[in-house]
Amino acid sequence: MLYAGCSRCQSVTTLVCGGRFMPHVPLAVEPSPMGAACAWCGPLPPIFTCMVCGTTQGLYLPGMTVPPAQGAGVAPLVAPVAQAPQNAAPHQLRSGFEEAAQQFASSFGKQFGQNLANSMSTWTS
Ligand SMILES: [Zn+2]
Ligand SMILES: [Zn+2]
Repeated sequence: MLYAGCSRCQSVTTLVCGGRFMPHVPLAVEPSPMGAACAWCGPLPPIFTCMVCGTTQGLYLPGMTVPPAQGAGVAPLVAPVAQAPQNAAPHQLRSGFEEAAQQFASSFGKQFGQNLANSMSTWTS
């Protein structure tokens, strides 16, 4: 399973796709170099909307080669993604988010400016 951690409220959400163009049965998404990918819809936009606080932010999976979405309507925040088994323990997820945040800072921190990398520091401190 892929889990996204909201950089605003630290809620953890499992990433599923319910259909990008045509609705389908919610399906767990898979990691890809383009971000999360759905077996039915293909790569999904590198964007995440938290179900708890409603914040739309960029999404970063370790190893992703495209930058997380930023722009109109997207908060200057990036949600890290951790890969873990279903029903993973919170500390397991947390170390996954820490890893993602650190990788993001080293791959995209310069490109995006430190602010965006710092938005993930909620997960590393
Ligand atoms: Zn889909
Ligand atoms: Zn949130």
